[in-house]
This record gives sequence, structure tokens and C-alpha cells, in this order.
Amino acid sequence: MISSNALHPLENELVLKATELLKSQRFPVDRINIDFEFKESMTKPYSHVVKIDMKQRRLHGLCTIRISPLSIMQDPGAMANSLLCHEVAHILAVTEARNSDIDIKQHGHEWSRWYASLLNETVYDYSHDTQIMDFRAAIIFGGGQFCICGCDPGETGKAISLRSKGKLVELKNNGILCEICGMSYTPVPDSKIPESVADDIEFLKKISLKRVSNNG
Ligand SMILES: [Zn+2]
Ligand SMILES: [Zn+2]
Repeated sequence: MISSNALHPLENELVLKATELLKSQRFPVDRINIDFEFKESMTKPYSHVVKIDMKQRRLHGLCTIRISPLSIMQDPGAMANSLLCHEVAHILAVTEARNSDIDIKQHGHEWSRWYASLLNETVYDYSHDTQIMDFRAAIIFGGGQFCICGCDPGETGKAISLRSKGKLVELKNNGILCEICGMSYTPVPDSKIPESVADDIEFLKKISLKRVSNNG
């Protein structure tokens, strides 16, 4: 079974494409459920969790593919092509390894083989790179703080995640330094956040509200 909390047309497209990729490799979606979870606070494009019941002869389980809605907005091409194949290749490599009881490395030989084979069936644009994605809005959405140093705030303002208690103390004591200008990062109010980041935060707030009301 395939499930997802997709809302946006681009999100639905990704789910469809991933499903096609898995089916093209004869992945047993009837026994291993796939859940696509779009998560606003993610600070990377994709991640995955595979839970498979090892005791049964035929594999049963659940694969969760988490996807950042912000990344889709920032670079839909990379997300739908190379990065999607990258993630689906993980699912295929892990479930194949469980089948044959071998231990595999995260980006080892088995994963590379699946990745290469998936890319052959899709359009791969090498000009895409995740480096152009900006996760500052997602960090702030997840409870982080926008900070500036001595550099141009529009260019180098930093979103600092405050998930660990130590970070907040460090920030208050001016203990987090910019690697470029050497000055300590100081928090700025929401009204001083650069426009592009503020727009991204607004997008994340809106889509997460919509998702909550859709699921409830
Ligand atoms: Zn990977
Ligand atoms: Zn700086």
C-alpha cells in the first residue's frame, strides 16, 4: 500500500514518480507499505526509515520516505530527478539486503548499483545540486532563531537550531561565532529576517496548517 500526506501538486507528482520507480523494479508494494511523509521542519531534502519484519519468510514492513516541502519549492527538478532516485535506491538496497541477510553500507556498492539503474530510466540533470537549497526557513520553522553577525545579513544571516539546550545558552553568551567575520551571532526579531527567508517561512506555515486541517 502507498500512503502519503501530499497536498501540493508538485508533492503528488513526486509520490507518483517514486511509486512508478519502485514498481518498475518489481518492489513488493503489496507487502511492504510505503509512506511518503512531507515534513515542513526538515533540514535536508529527503530521509528514509525502513522497518521490515525479519521473522517472516516473505518480507513485510513499512518504508517511510520523508520529504522536505521547502526543497521541492526551491528546486523541483533536482527533487524529482536525481534526489528522488537517490532515495528510492536506498529503499531498494536496504530491502534487498534484508532479503539476503547481508550488511550494506549507506552509500556502498549495492546502493550505487540501484542508483545507476534508476537514473538510466529517468532524466538526470547534472547541473542540479542540493547546495543551492536554503534550509534557514525550515530551521526557524522548527523553533530555531535567525541571527546576524558582521557580514551582510541578506547574504550570510544564519538560522541557528535551538533543539539542544546548550545552543540557546551558547547564543545568549555570544558564544556562536561566524567563521567568516569572526563576530558572534546575535538574534534578530522576525521583522528583520531577509525577505526571501521570510517568504519561505510563510510558505511552510501555510502548508503545514493546511496539512494539519486536511489530516484532522
Ligand atoms: Zn543517501
Ligand atoms: Zn560573519
